[in-house]
Amino acid sequence: MRNIRHHPKPETLAEYAAGRLDEARSVVVSTHLTLCKECSRSVVDFEALGGACLETVEPEAMQAGSLAAFWERAGDQDILVSPSMHGFEAANDFSLSAAQPLGAYLDVDVDRIKWRAVAPGVSQHVLDAEGYRDGVLRLLKIAPGVQLPMHTHKREELTLIIRGAYRDAIGEFRPGDLADLDDDIEHAPTAFGDEDCICLIATSAPLVFKDLIGKIVQPFVGL
Ligand SMILES: [Zn+2]
Repeated sequence: MRNIRHHPKPETLAEYAAGRLDEARSVVVSTHLTLCKECSRSVVDFEALGGACLETVEPEAMQAGSLAAFWERAGDQDILVSPSMHGFEAANDFSLSAAQPLGAYLDVDVDRIKWRAVAPGVSQHVLDAEGYRDGVLRLLKIAPGVQLPMHTHKREELTLIIRGAYRDAIGEFRPGDLADLDDDIEHAPTAFGDEDCICLIATSAPLVFKDLIGKIVQPFVGL
């Protein structure tokens, strides 16, 4: 295996270790971990750190009447539960032990996938990520020389290269490389090389396209 140059951010690995990533992103990270010893070691360290923190927390007795006071305060307010809070609960429910690398989510071999064309030279296959709430897990196939429209992300997007390669303003991405992007980054990846670039992508919110073409095609391609 070649050297992997692009890895998840430390905070993404820490969240993964704590079981707090949504399922779509967990699949992408766990698939990267099967390829990357460096990140696997970081996750083990984060897990050990998390365990050590729990062990050093001394349980503290509640003050008399504090529970009653809590309910009194809670009763005074309308507690609004936003859709994202539902998502957060779901993420906490998600069992890390259930996280399987990509293979478990593919009903057929990569070479036999029935791709759906979404734009010239770009097709996708949406995977069922059981238990995800507001994230989507998909495979995207980009023909060599094709550039995706410039876009940013409302929240986070994790992209793992499975096959082929693409380049953008950040650098070149090849199999095993993982792009961990948030809304600071605007990019327009272009596939290059001899074969289609196939990426596994977990998107926690719709992409925000920067140009008119992107805005026009978005409702049709479902990206
Ligand atoms: Zn890594």
